[in-house]
Amino acid sequence: MKDTYTYSIGENLYINLTNRCTNRCTFCVRNGKETYEGYALWLKGEEPTAAQIESEIGDPRNYSEIVFCGFGEPTERLSDMLEICDYVHAHGGRTRLNTNGHGSLLAGRNIAPDLKGKMDGVNVSLNAPRRADYEKICRPQIEGAYEGMLAFARDCREAGLNVWFSVVDCIGEENVRLCREIADGVGIPLRVRPMIE
Ligand code: SF4
Repeated sequence: MKDTYTYSIGENLYINLTNRCTNRCTFCVRNGKETYEGYALWLKGEEPTAAQIESEIGDPRNYSEIVFCGFGEPTERLSDMLEICDYVHAHGGRTRLNTNGHGSLLAGRNIAPDLKGKMDGVNVSLNAPRRADYEKICRPQIEGAYEGMLAFARDCREAGLNVWFSVVDCIGEENVRLCREIADGVGIPLRVRPMIE
């Protein structure tokens, strides 16, 4: 099967920029899977260039949103991702980032201001109300992952981005309630999404 760089589900087009990720989430849709919805998201060859992605997007107005979300963490490819956002906006489209929130940790600086004017929406996976739970569920491979993710979300809010947290419902009602307290405490909305089997 050919490597999948962009894939369409519903009205959106999703961008699979990389397989690199700073988490190893227990619930990740890529665990034990070669494909997702029939798309080969594990890249056997090189990661795609921004130009390749832009050519596959074509006219972004054909989609509700262009969503950076694949078998990896999109902020691993920050500059290419931002270049693609410029292309999408120049052609009248909308952008969204689905992220584990480790982009600033990866870059070693606050990247939230870089996303301003580039991302129309930023979905940060919160996933746990405490660091210990986060480490069990998301198995981070980067130092300071939980606090870094929370700081990134706050930085996005401060940069004026449309940011929200998400949790997967498999963490249980009590944990969802505690996550909602955290989200409310920092003035960021929380969305609960069903786990993808
Ligand atoms: S952060 Fe996303 S891509 Fe990375 S392991 Fe978790 S669910 Fe999978």
